[in-house]
Amino acid sequence: MAEKTKKTEAKKIEKTSTRKTKEKSTAEKSESKKNKIFSDLSSVNKLRLLYELQIIDSSIDRIKTIRGELPLEVQDLEDEIVGFDTRIKNLIQEIKEIDININQRKVNVEKAKNLIKKYEEQQKNVRNNREFDSLSKELEYQSLEIELNEKIIKELGAKIKDKKREIETTKAMVADKKIALEEKKQELSEITSETANDEKELIGRANEIKYLIEQRLLTAYNKIRHNARNGLAVVTVKRDACGGCFNKIPPQRQLDIKMSKKVIVCEYCGRILVDSDFANE
Ligand SMILES: [Zn+2]
Repeated sequence: MAEKTKKTEAKKIEKTSTRKTKEKSTAEKSESKKNKIFSDLSSVNKLRLLYELQIIDSSIDRIKTIRGELPLEVQDLEDEIVGFDTRIKNLIQEIKEIDININQRKVNVEKAKNLIKKYEEQQKNVRNNREFDSLSKELEYQSLEIELNEKIIKELGAKIKDKKREIETTKAMVADKKIALEEKKQELSEITSETANDEKELIGRANEIKYLIEQRLLTAYNKIRHNARNGLAVVTVKRDACGGCFNKIPPQRQLDIKMSKKVIVCEYCGRILVDSDFANE
């Protein structure tokens, strides 16, 4: 259905283009005469070109609407996955550092155990009580050292467990996001492949027209289009009203618009108003 409308529209554009070429040749002939007909023709042409540009831009807008938020959603998912991957990398690094810490503490425990053995041996051969007490203090100190290191090793082990669990949950989230990403990408590529050629062609035509329209008018067109919610900068008169904002247009103004002698804008919404016959051409 939408495809059909697009085709009709494309045909319509083609039709106006051919007519435009005919008019152009007429205009070229008139140019040498430099008569009034030329300036009149040229202003009609300007308005026709503007209207034609509007129709093409609206078609491009419709294609963009079909694509909708998909490109953004794909981007968001890709960013999220990168974020999760970084988190996993950081967790792995943190675990490595904790492992180094644990190994260091295991070395500490071994050292203390060896010292305890050594002091216990020495205690057997003490010469006096003072030496014995001193060794007892050392032994007590080394036992505390072992106790402290083992307590920390346990805590660090728990931390590693937490981090490993976090890695698993993050990996699961990454897997989910990747599935969602693939779906969105697929959806987007289907839509894009359907509309890519149409869009390319429309953009090409729009650029051709933009090349013909004087910069001042084009700037105004872009500004109005940018400010209008529906992207309409050029509208026809419909049932005595502006086709953009639907405010009534006085009969004299309607006549002026029909003459197509100059650019007339809607006094309510600022859109450029063109002859309603343009829409039927
Ligand atoms: Zn209006």
